[in-house]
Amino acid sequence: MNFALTDSQQKIQHRARDFAQTRVAPIAREMDERGAMPLELVREMGVLGFLGGPLPSEYGGEGWDAVSLALCYEELGRVDSSVRGLMTVHTSLVSQCILKWGTAEQKQKFLPKLARGEWLGCYALTEPNAGSDAASMETTATQDDDEFVLNGEKIWITNGNIADVAIVFANSNRALKHKGICAFLIETNLKGFAREKMRGQELGHRASDHAHIRFENMRVPKTALLGNVGEGFKVAMSALDHGRLGVAAGALGVAQACLDASVEFARTRRQFGQRIGDFEMIQSVIANMAADVDAARMLVYRAAWLKDEGQRATRETSIAKLFATEAAVRAASEAVLLHGGRGYSNEYPVERYYRDIKGLQIYEGTSHIQRIVIARDLIGKEM
Ligand SMILES: Cc1cc2nc3c(=O)[nH]c(=O)nc-3n(C[C@H](O)[C@H](O)[C@H](O)COP(=O)(O)OP(=O)(O)OC[C@H]3O[C@@H](n4cnc5c(N)ncnc54)[C@H](O)[C@@H]3O)c2cc1C
Repeated sequence: MNFALTDSQQKIQHRARDFAQTRVAPIAREMDERGAMPLELVREMGVLGFLGGPLPSEYGGEGWDAVSLALCYEELGRVDSSVRGLMTVHTSLVSQCILKWGTAEQKQKFLPKLARGEWLGCYALTEPNAGSDAASMETTATQDDDEFVLNGEKIWITNGNIADVAIVFANSNRALKHKGICAFLIETNLKGFAREKMRGQELGHRASDHAHIRFENMRVPKTALLGNVGEGFKVAMSALDHGRLGVAAGALGVAQACLDASVEFARTRRQFGQRIGDFEMIQSVIANMAADVDAARMLVYRAAWLKDEGQRATRETSIAKLFATEAAVRAASEAVLLHGGRGYSNEYPVERYYRDIKGLQIYEGTSHIQRIVIARDLIGKEM
């Protein structure tokens, strides 16, 4: 068993770390306070090759393997979950999904622009009445000659207000349940596509854009189908297989950032005439956090490695997402406590990590849903 990263993986890790530390970390607090991120930062990620990383060179990518992509998400997650989240949706849920399911024309038209960051992508699955149970979606796609007419709404769509391209899921025959679902690859300037910011102040991920999207008799050509009629649910689940690895790697980054901040604080903060890091109770917290971070890293890298080996990794990806997000929730909670009153203020980044990490536990399948995926894979379905 070889745990070492290859030269090329190390180079990508260093490139991502350098960008995260020098370009994102200095503005992370300001982005969180302002509730938005500068679009130039996103364009820069395109120029630097991050957004198209895993795409083949013919579409403007660098052909990264899954381990390299996970390393990039980990480094971004260490400094800011909103920036990492934008990239996971754009690259893993959208671009990698087009690469797998798109026609030659769709790939040629969309992927180079997405790789360069000229166009941004979003993935529209969740609805007001269909969250964990995505197959029960109410958005309809009615066939009319060479077109489909879409009606319905989607909520919580990351990048939804700024995206140029959307993968939209709608049911063409609700009697068929999930077998009636179709995936559409559309440009967001179509007539009948209306979007607005989600209502309410969000707990974390405040620099992310989350949209409420409505489709009102939106006509899309048949050529916008991604996959065949009725294959939409498969398309959605295969995209989540990529996306969940991105969320798991991002959570690993958050957990690592909590550990780094806690170690630094334990070394420097003094009470009762000694470093707080010399109290055994604090040492125990830090040791548990370090063990969690190491275990999460092994699970995330294993899931990525299995994908690179061409093996099915749905269960392992869910295990990685479940463990890494839960470990990061524990780490963030302990990091805030360990910082005392300082941890309660955004003067220190652990306050933001604590708010952001809850989102990772919820989106792309909550921790409950990951447990269902894992258990069903182990137990199997009754015939
Ligand atoms: C920050 C953020 C970003 C998001 N980005 C996107 C995006 O880009 N695109 C997109 O399509 N969606 C996105 N979502 C939506 C997200 O995927 C859903 O919120 C999530 O899948 C849960 O659905 P729900 O909110 O409807 O909760 P519900 O499905 O109503 O669940 C409520 C609770 O019930 C539990 N539950 C449900 N079913 C079961 C079950 N069978 N067994 C046990 N427990 C169960 C859930 O785990 C949860 O605790 C985002 C959400 C957030 C918060």
